[in-house]
Amino acid sequence: MTSTHNTARLSSFVQQFGSLLDRHPTELEILAQGGNLLGQLVAQDDWLPNAYTQPHPQYYQQYLLHADPLGRFSVVSFVWGPGQATPIHDHTVWGLIGMLRGAEESQAFARNSDGRWLAHGEPHLLAPGEIDAVSPRIGDVHRVRNTLADQVSISIHVYGADIGKVQRSVYLEDGTRKPFVSGYSHAAALLLEPTN
Ligand code: FE
Repeated sequence: MTSTHNTARLSSFVQQFGSLLDRHPTELEILAQGGNLLGQLVAQDDWLPNAYTQPHPQYYQQYLLHADPLGRFSVVSFVWGPGQATPIHDHTVWGLIGMLRGAEESQAFARNSDGRWLAHGEPHLLAPGEIDAVSPRIGDVHRVRNTLADQVSISIHVYGADIGKVQRSVYLEDGTRKPFVSGYSHAAALLLEPTN
């Protein structure tokens, strides 16, 4: 069996993202230039190995695709089963979201004067090839869902840290905060494809 996946796309993305960060850009530059790089990566859907596309019947999956050895960024494949959604959550670092397959919706939340979280602005609906961004500066709290009721959706996320290890929070609409460390899902070894 030979893999038809163009895995060079991901390695080239990782290399270019590392070069961008070598230049010590501002967050605004990371989101703009890094967003362009991510846009190029998700413009084609021929590179993500099957092991990182597998949904779970109950939970959305977060497969680590790359962790920068210097800890400056991580690249994660988010795989949403039909109708799956996150709780309201934050990131604490900048994040870029690139839609690869299917469709997802990101709804921003803002805290009102009595501490409750309310939907803030219109939801961002992402189609394949489209990019969204989060950060404590531009808006860090959102809820994301697969808008497709009968299909898997996949988005590629890049964060300014090894996001699976970051101490962050999920929130209930009444304002209750729960500490949260996402970790990563484990890609099933049996599904790994040969590399070429
Ligand atoms: Fe998020």
